[in-house]
Amino acid sequence: MNENIIKRNELLAQKVIKGLESRNMTGYYAADKEEALKKALELIPEGSSIAMGGAMSAHEIGLVEAVKNGNYSFIDRDAAADKRAAMMESYDADIFLASTNAMTEDGVLINIDGNSNRVSMIAQGPKKVIFIVGMNKVCSDVDAAMKRARNVAAPINAQRFGLQTPCSKTGSCFNCKSPDTICCQILITRYSRHAGRIHVILVNDTLGF
Ligand code: SF4
Repeated sequence: MNENIIKRNELLAQKVIKGLESRNMTGYYAADKEEALKKALELIPEGSSIAMGGAMSAHEIGLVEAVKNGNYSFIDRDAAADKRAAMMESYDADIFLASTNAMTEDGVLINIDGNSNRVSMIAQGPKKVIFIVGMNKVCSDVDAAMKRARNVAAPINAQRFGLQTPCSKTGSCFNCKSPDTICCQILITRYSRHAGRIHVILVNDTLGF
């Protein structure tokens, strides 16, 4: 990566971390994927029960593989015969791994969801939430972050899951009410009542979408 981009991302990450602190959340900066993985594992005590949403960024830094192979109790909803039981178990997990669809320079997280298990568990349930966030997800303000979530993250996710939405065909949001819409719930996380619950690892890389 170009050294000017690295410097810019380091400086911007410090602003995001201050914003998170002002919102009772904790931020960290990782210079690369390896450092992000190390930091995430430091935040997860051995023996923890771990659930996750569709966090592509957590896969990309090797975190999902590490916790599946480590001394943890990983709740694998995709592999579970009873998906509802696995989902209900996830609400009581020690750790929830997530990424975010977008976030602001002053620490607000924006997430949209179709089934809404992911946004509901970010809001409440698991004791600790760990976000893995590439610097490509950081936007200037809530409007820009919302636009990113609706016009970048959502169309790519709709295509990924083969959903019949206008954005999966055109690449941008039509504010649809399609039965397949993945924009059923939109969560703006602007403060955490619970100190020590929400942790955001900012990674100097392009992760997820
Ligand atoms: S509202 Fe519909 S068109 Fe817009 S991003 Fe969501 S699913 Fe796509």
